[in-house]
Amino acid sequence: MVLETKKVDEELLEELSKVESIGSKRRMVAYRAGTVVLRSMVEDLLDMGFEWMLPVMLSRTTDPLWPDPGASIEYRPELEIYGARVRTMQSMIVHKRVLVSLGPSKFFIISPNIRIEKRERGRSGWHLYEFTQLETEIAHATMKDVFRVYERLVTSAIRAVKTELAQELREIGRELRDFGTPFEVLSRRDLERKYGAEWERVLPLQIREPVWVTDIPREFYDYEDFGSGIWHNYDLFLPEGYGEVLSGAEREYEYEKMLAKIKRDGLRVEDYEVLLKLAKEGKLKPSAGAGLGVERFTAYVVGARHVAEVQPFPRVPGFISPL
Ligand code: ASP
Ligand code: MG
Repeated sequence: MVLETKKVDEELLEELSKVESIGSKRRMVAYRAGTVVLRSMVEDLLDMGFEWMLPVMLSRTTDPLWPDPGASIEYRPELEIYGARVRTMQSMIVHKRVLVSLGPSKFFIISPNIRIEKRERGRSGWHLYEFTQLETEIAHATMKDVFRVYERLVTSAIRAVKTELAQELREIGRELRDFGTPFEVLSRRDLERKYGAEWERVLPLQIREPVWVTDIPREFYDYEDFGSGIWHNYDLFLPEGYGEVLSGAEREYEYEKMLAKIKRDGLRVEDYEVLLKLAKEGKLKPSAGAGLGVERFTAYVVGARHVAEVQPFPRVPGFISPL
């Protein structure tokens, strides 16, 4: 939400930091909308045959969040427990890849993440240092399969909110539109040609419906076609100046390729030894999946001025609130 018109001002940050504003009208509608969104999405996923798995939060390994053009991590927390170093979860991507290969072939996880974003991101209106992803992973799936899953989740959650919370939306002055499906698919290369390096900021101001953007160079676990240089990954962008609400990909599963990419990115090979071992033994299944930012989606639904408005205890980068 890096919109000129929605610039996050000091007054809003001040309001968000006050314990007393937990129960304000806008915040109460946001919690109710969050409830309807989660219920709708979970019901759809169960209906589609997904297994419901619970998250982990401390692990020897997590998403490196590197290299990623969208990432700006200031610090990667590590702590020692039982004599071992563990990290706080940045995303469950490594765990999802192992689980989809050895366990259920189709599952979702409501997964809390800690990402210590640079403090200036507190004013973007779109970043949090603790947030929750609705993660999925599907064995042997393609990106189109994942597109269809999240198009259904997004459109039916919006329908549910509009039906069940019509009065509340009116009270806070939110006009929520229904979206048509399938969503349009655009390529990052075309967007760069059209809007330049700033495409991620400009795109959400130009669109009226959500769009998929594919082929974004980033972490080793997303599938990259070494022949064409095209990445089989994607982000979902929301309109009205909001922006990226989901990241996902078809995944790498070949040992040599994964190892080459981990080294290319300057990562520690030992952090990914479970993935690499499975890949070497031919047990790492091809899969595709994604994670949707639950707070971001809910913020869009209620027309929030800052994504932290949907959190009872706001996690705004750079600001530690009393609770
Ligand atoms: N959840 C994402 C994925 O499935 C990774 C991320 O958190 O950026 O690829
Ligand atoms: Mg990512």
